[in-house]
Amino acid sequence: MLYIKDILVSLLVVFQEMKKYRCIVCGYVYDPVEGDPDGGIPPGTAFEDIPDDWECPVCGVKKSDFVEDDW
Ligand SMILES: [Zn+2]
Repeated sequence: MLYIKDILVSLLVVFQEMKKYRCIVCGYVYDPVEGDPDGGIPPGTAFEDIPDDWECPVCGVKKSDFVEDDW
């Protein structure tokens, strides 16, 4: 049973790391599950793992203009 518990904990950690982020300028939401294929970001990429030179696909601002999407 301990093994199953470990798996559940791992899944929870992954889930928590895959947060959505929202562009404060245009409202675009980056979803880690979908990534940004047009911007060279493959699906499954956490926001933290996106290169710093990535830009919002809608309005072109940098990562620093994105905030955690709480809802
Ligand atoms: Zn934007």
